[in-house]
Amino acid sequence: MATIKDSVELFEDEVIVREYHAIDKEYVPVLSSGAEGRIAITNRRVIGRSELSVAGGKRVELNTVPLETVQGTCLSSGYSISWLFLIPGIGLLIYGIFGLISRQWGLGVILLIAGIILIVFSFRREVKIGVRAASIVHHGHISRAEPEGYLLLSQSGFRAYRIHGPDIEAVMRSLDAVILTVQQRGLEVIKDLKCSNPECSYMTMIGEEPPKHCPECGRAWRSK
Ligand SMILES: [Zn+2]
Repeated sequence: MATIKDSVELFEDEVIVREYHAIDKEYVPVLSSGAEGRIAITNRRVIGRSELSVAGGKRVELNTVPLETVQGTCLSSGYSISWLFLIPGIGLLIYGIFGLISRQWGLGVILLIAGIILIVFSFRREVKIGVRAASIVHHGHISRAEPEGYLLLSQSGFRAYRIHGPDIEAVMRSLDAVILTVQQRGLEVIKDLKCSNPECSYMTMIGEEPPKHCPECGRAWRSK
């Protein structure tokens, strides 16, 4: 999947200060849907983009949260249960035990093994990435804070994704800090990240080791 830098049109004065590759799961026909997800923080927005590949084709989702409305982030990582696998798994296990009790050994063992496989697959690692927005929604007479704007979605709709990507540890560690830094220091941050040659548009990202020389114009990178 293309990076956010390459696939999302930015405002004229908008630059990406950090991009994470948060979801990466290969598409295996029949067996599993593929997924790719990236999060970018710009000086104006937090952008989440995900692509889901299934047999029928591809689904792309793009979510953005304006930077000034972000109040905080919500990250969670842990195991979740898929009832779609667990309930049939337990069912097969019980049938398998009954099969063994009634001395139908072959059938009993097959059902037992199938049940155990389904139960094992029903526990999945889940990673959720949410960004809380400050806006207030009015429902009739009641005003309440808008629910978390999740950035990366799952097949089922408005929810974050559950897969591990190469940058997920970095997301857990630094997403909040990067958003806060950009909210507080805005354009100052961008100045620090840009090549010192005014003619050159090359930029590093927050958290990235700056190069010794600019890869685009070759000018020595300013020392800190
Ligand atoms: Zn340069």
